[in-house]
Amino acid sequence: MGITLDAAVPRDGTVCLNWNGEGSPPTQWWLLVERTGARPGYTSLTLDGGVKAWRFENLSRHQRYRIQVRAPGDQASACVDVLPREGSTAVTEQGAPVPQAGITQLLVMPQDRRLTAYWTLSSGFVDRTVVAVHVEGRLLGRWELEPEVRSLSVDAARVAALQNGMVCDVTVATRLGTVVQDVMTVRAVPAPQGRERDANRALTQAGLVYPCLSLTDELDLFGDANAPVAAARVISCGSCGGATAWRDYTLTCTSCAVRFIRNARGDFLDLSKLRFGTCRCCLPHKILIQDAGSTSLRCSHSGKEHIRLEGETVHRLIEDLPYGLCQCCRPRRPLRKDGDNVRCSVSREMHRRAAGDVAAFVLVPSAPVLDAAAIDELMDAGLADICATGVSRARR
Ligand SMILES: [Zn+2]
Ligand SMILES: [Zn+2]
Ligand SMILES: [Zn+2]
Repeated sequence: MGITLDAAVPRDGTVCLNWNGEGSPPTQWWLLVERTGARPGYTSLTLDGGVKAWRFENLSRHQRYRIQVRAPGDQASACVDVLPREGSTAVTEQGAPVPQAGITQLLVMPQDRRLTAYWTLSSGFVDRTVVAVHVEGRLLGRWELEPEVRSLSVDAARVAALQNGMVCDVTVATRLGTVVQDVMTVRAVPAPQGRERDANRALTQAGLVYPCLSLTDELDLFGDANAPVAAARVISCGSCGGATAWRDYTLTCTSCAVRFIRNARGDFLDLSKLRFGTCRCCLPHKILIQDAGSTSLRCSHSGKEHIRLEGETVHRLIEDLPYGLCQCCRPRRPLRKDGDNVRCSVSREMHRRAAGDVAAFVLVPSAPVLDAAAIDELMDAGLADICATGVSRARR
């Protein structure tokens, strides 16, 4: 199938696209937008196959953009190079390459029946980050995650078969369409609290990190050798004065069972008295905080956003959202079920399940326009980061 693509710049910052494919329309379209220059940025949209026009507004007048329209599952694509400055004309490009993001680093933290993978992506287009856990070549679990997700905890709740002592290969890779790139693997063994280092001693340590259960500040190895050695810190229970110990990665009073959590200043707070509770991403758990002027909560340690959907009491991480993130906003916002439909929780734009991909949703736009006011900043960040501001579309 061939695609013809026209692009026009009616005024500064606005790019109007019109395209047409030969034959019957595909089930969906990809719009891949690359901001060229010294520090390229990438973002993509997945649209319903019936869409044939799209408008970007508020792009930078000083940057060239390369915009591709593709039909997934098909090699057909069309590409233009355009400067969003009034009076300039778009240049049609032939066979422009599609730079795919890769994995640049992978770290795994082994814990009690739990493995947490942390990774970083290089800049480029990406549909999904693919995480898998194998034990002796047998697949234990596989997840296709939004590219905004940068860490995943695999525990007994996700994989019932995960046991301490299993030698697990954790792999992370990126997927764009059907192309899987940069498979990185770290081997790790889950083990009970306090036994993690022993259980993993025989393995390559480069990709492993261990949970920190120390009460003292880190030693200043290169400081004054005559400095007095810091006395081991003893934390007594603030309720009953009893002794405390680490249990299930939580500092717990051995007498009255009150549990404590450390804040950023090193103080230990009674876990039951926290206003927003604890994060779901880290172990030991960290405090959830709310930035001034924002309504969203994030982990004080990892920065991961904790989302509460309408009508729900529990907070979710992006990787636990039932429908993933929208295609209409930058940064992308959670999709939620609305009667028979799935809609963006912010813009209310309708989405439908992508053919052949149960996890993915495509946008069925009511007005084919994206206000890109926030896109350049997000592109600078490599990918859209999830934050409270920068919603691209007004609520209807
Ligand atoms: Zn106590
Ligand atoms: Zn956390
Ligand atoms: Zn949205």
